[in-house]
Amino acid sequence: MEILVDLHCHTVASTHAHSTILENIAAAKKKGLEAIAITNHCPPLEDAPHIYHFVNLSTLPGMIDGFRVFRGCEANIINLNGDLGVDNSILKALDIVIASIHNPVYRDIGAEDNTSAYINALENPYVDIIGHSGNPRCPFDVERVLTRAKELNKFIEINENTFCIRPDNVSVCKEIALCAKYLKTNVVVNSDAHIATNVGNVERAMKILNEIDFPEELIANRSFEAFKKAISPRKNI
Ligand SMILES: [Zn+2]
Ligand SMILES: [Zn+2]
Repeated sequence: MEILVDLHCHTVASTHAHSTILENIAAAKKKGLEAIAITNHCPPLEDAPHIYHFVNLSTLPGMIDGFRVFRGCEANIINLNGDLGVDNSILKALDIVIASIHNPVYRDIGAEDNTSAYINALENPYVDIIGHSGNPRCPFDVERVLTRAKELNKFIEINENTFCIRPDNVSVCKEIALCAKYLKTNVVVNSDAHIATNVGNVERAMKILNEIDFPEELIANRSFEAFKKAISPRKNI
């Protein structure tokens, strides 16, 4: 099956990425996608744009050249309280908020506290997605986090870029996917593209899901309509 909504794309606003919003949109349209989200890193990660970038996403049209673009961010979970280092007043104005652990701004505090960090981030009403959680160097209780995600109607990400930069994440991602299948927790499958040519690329992530016969109906971003419906108990997009 194809994934028609890519909810995790970086642009040159993050200094480690290479393409503009318009380049990402052009690539997404060419691949037949229905929507993308622009989700740059947030402070305090060093490559993040100034916080004004996120405030000023209000100037980004929701439709560009006939294509749906979600205003988003990839915030950092910075401690066991699930704090994100960005004011909720800023997150509130965005369509999509991903909460990820990035090692430069998070110290592994053991499985029990890492679990609390993820669950507390999910409790933030503006967080929609737990990003790339398959790092074996940051273990957590997958079943507890996915159970809470389901209860809160939020999403666990299966992240394509992870498999390029951290191949040892595959086994944890498989465990996460198996648990999501068992619990019936919705996942989203995203590219985490850092260049336009990777927008919509989720080949390896889908291979993992196909290997375990993952149910299509639990992939919330398989189409714009499916995602709109999956997120509708909490927000209209
Ligand atoms: Zn990330
Ligand atoms: Zn990312």
